[in-house]
Amino acid sequence: MQLAAIVISLTLTAVAVALFSRAAVQIVRFLRLGQPVPEGTRTDDPKARSATLAKEFVGHTRMNRWGVVGVAHWFVAVGFLTLGLTIVQAYGQLFQADWVLPVIGGFLPYEMYIEFIAAMTVLGIATLIVIRLLSLPSRPGRKSRFTGSTAWQAYFVEYVILIIGLAILVLRGLEGALHHVDGYDPAYFVTYPLVAAFDGLSAGTLQNLVYLAALIKLGTTMTWAITVALNTDMGVAWHRFLAFPNIWFKRNADGAPALGALLPMTSGGKPIDFETVFDDEDAEEEPQFGVSQVEHFSWKGLLDFSTCTECGRCQSQCPAWNTGKPLSPKLLVMSLRDHAHAKAPYLLPGADEAALAETADGAVPEHQRPLVGTAEQHGVIDPDVLWSCTTCGACVEQCPVDIEHVDHIVDMRRYQVMIESAFPSEAGTMLKNLERKGNPWGLAKKKRLEWTKEVDFEVPVVGKDVESLADVDYLYWVGCAGALEDRAKKTTKAFAELLHMAGVRFAIMGGDEACTGDSARRLGNEFLFQQLGEQNVSALKEAGAKKIVATCPHCFNTIANEYPQLGGEFEVIHHTQLLQHLVDEGRLTPVTPVEGLITYHDPCYLGRHNKVYTPPREIIGRVPGLRNEEMHRHKERGFCCGAGGARMWMEERIGKRVNDERVDEALALDPDIVSTACPFCLVMLSDSVNGKKNDGKAKEELRVVDVAQLLLDSVRTPGPDEAPSDEPAPEPTPEPTGS
Ligand code: SF4
Ligand code: SF4
Repeated sequence: MQLAAIVISLTLTAVAVALFSRAAVQIVRFLRLGQPVPEGTRTDDPKARSATLAKEFVGHTRMNRWGVVGVAHWFVAVGFLTLGLTIVQAYGQLFQADWVLPVIGGFLPYEMYIEFIAAMTVLGIATLIVIRLLSLPSRPGRKSRFTGSTAWQAYFVEYVILIIGLAILVLRGLEGALHHVDGYDPAYFVTYPLVAAFDGLSAGTLQNLVYLAALIKLGTTMTWAITVALNTDMGVAWHRFLAFPNIWFKRNADGAPALGALLPMTSGGKPIDFETVFDDEDAEEEPQFGVSQVEHFSWKGLLDFSTCTECGRCQSQCPAWNTGKPLSPKLLVMSLRDHAHAKAPYLLPGADEAALAETADGAVPEHQRPLVGTAEQHGVIDPDVLWSCTTCGACVEQCPVDIEHVDHIVDMRRYQVMIESAFPSEAGTMLKNLERKGNPWGLAKKKRLEWTKEVDFEVPVVGKDVESLADVDYLYWVGCAGALEDRAKKTTKAFAELLHMAGVRFAIMGGDEACTGDSARRLGNEFLFQQLGEQNVSALKEAGAKKIVATCPHCFNTIANEYPQLGGEFEVIHHTQLLQHLVDEGRLTPVTPVEGLITYHDPCYLGRHNKVYTPPREIIGRVPGLRNEEMHRHKERGFCCGAGGARMWMEERIGKRVNDERVDEALALDPDIVSTACPFCLVMLSDSVNGKKNDGKAKEELRVVDVAQLLLDSVRTPGPDEAPSDEPAPEPTPEPTGS
């Protein structure tokens, strides 16, 4: 028995070490295929990065939001990292059954720790196995977050851990019996029942059982190592190693998820400035616009793909996936990973393309597959997948290993839009309108001022009524929807009136305001975004803008987080933040009751992308009469309205409409008011509510309003002739196709 155990264990170990070392080198070479990242990113502030990594691992901060799964995974992860000495122990036991580790062996705290962590690892992995079994992909619909995950790999990894954990406990029981532990001993506080069970066996039998258990432990460990080494794309196993660098190199050193701003478009690791990109005529390589081949992603992108554990948390939160679209962020990342690993042999130095193509067994060679293309074109990512994303950020927010899905999706869109001109044709109208008129509706500049004639106080315009913004408290950035879309205009007027009532001095840009470029950028038209952005930044600088308030979270996000990339640094707040401040200061006092049950919808670009969750709720809480009830999915897990990522301007042909899904969730509470704080959300939600009213599925009295309108209703007493704020709005022309 002993000899067989030694021979098998050592042979497997030799093979495992050789293959694992080769795999480690392969992964490093694979990552080097990616593009460089801009200087100063990903490695800035190493101290903060290390602290973030320590916090995310030790505290399991991103996993623990998932309750019992997070705790179970914590024990499994800590067990994996700290049970290494039990492997050494098992090797020793192959040669001498009662062998103990030098120095530390027999040291009570160490022995107790091993007992505890081994038991908790077994319990933890058993919990994870049960959770997986309770959520099998065979569940109807798309309810299982494991749908599409590689099942055999997950089961393999989980059962390997279970077997190893059990083998450690059995070995300890045998050790106790061999060392004649004949009463309760704290060093065996978990395995004492096993010690007692083995007590009475002969020394020879105990020794043979030790050899067998050590063989099982080492054999299973090495089989795992060999399997993992032969499958370098096995994220469910490799994340144990790759998650550490992936977290350390995440976008933000302080640990914030990769939300808010999009990253600038880069070529060869340098941000592209369209004003100068073609200046260098001697440049050896053409600039790369967006991503058209998997190797155009940065090395961090390739690391992201390889780190995916296939846990499906992103998928379970994705509005596209949850409404029957073909996009799942998990499946997208898995497809990119599988393609990247399969293509790597063609890309590595010295690859013999012809020979490699022959091994493709009649299939289209991996390097010839288009990155974005239909199934008939053998594409890696289907266009319907690419264009289903609303850039809501739910995937990024939930990913336990900090994968940055949105940046990768937009990078692929950039190439499709700027080089291939391949994007949903409806969005083309929006782009043309932006190019010609500076707003998505294609309306004349002067229309931006029309709302000012519908309020009974003067709204000062920069350059006309005020020379310098030094004379006012805030520049109010109205935004295209706020100025031109009838439903959003109600928010604009309500907010302006509240500012006026509170005595806040403000001015607007009027016709000098152009679209911030949010939709253009998220559609992938970086050129147009830069053009609009530079125009706005220079207008704002010329006006001397310092403090800006915006009613649109998309404008708020773009000016606050993206204009610094174009040299525009401004202090920007959202109108709900300012209103909360004015209420807190007593400059606005809600007094008139607004009766009814209200539910608040978090706009993605206010909530998840910018972490503004409290101010709108505080305002609602201050309005007398309102009873607030949260929808099931709220705050970090809020569900998109379907308008982000330029989806506002595209048809929604596949699956259930995202806005209908969100409104159904709201209707389950039977509210009187659905409130939000974004003009896009307002349009999407009210469209859905109106449709449901027509179908008799929503009560006629149900209102969809911005928080500012609610506050205004409460701060002033409506006059007898005043129209209620939920009167049906005339349809704007042209109507965004997503609404
Ligand atoms: S950003 Fe939102 S819509 Fe896009 S993949 Fe992630 S979860 Fe899905
Ligand atoms: S991308 Fe992140 S959240 Fe999604 S399956 Fe992979 S590891 Fe899980």
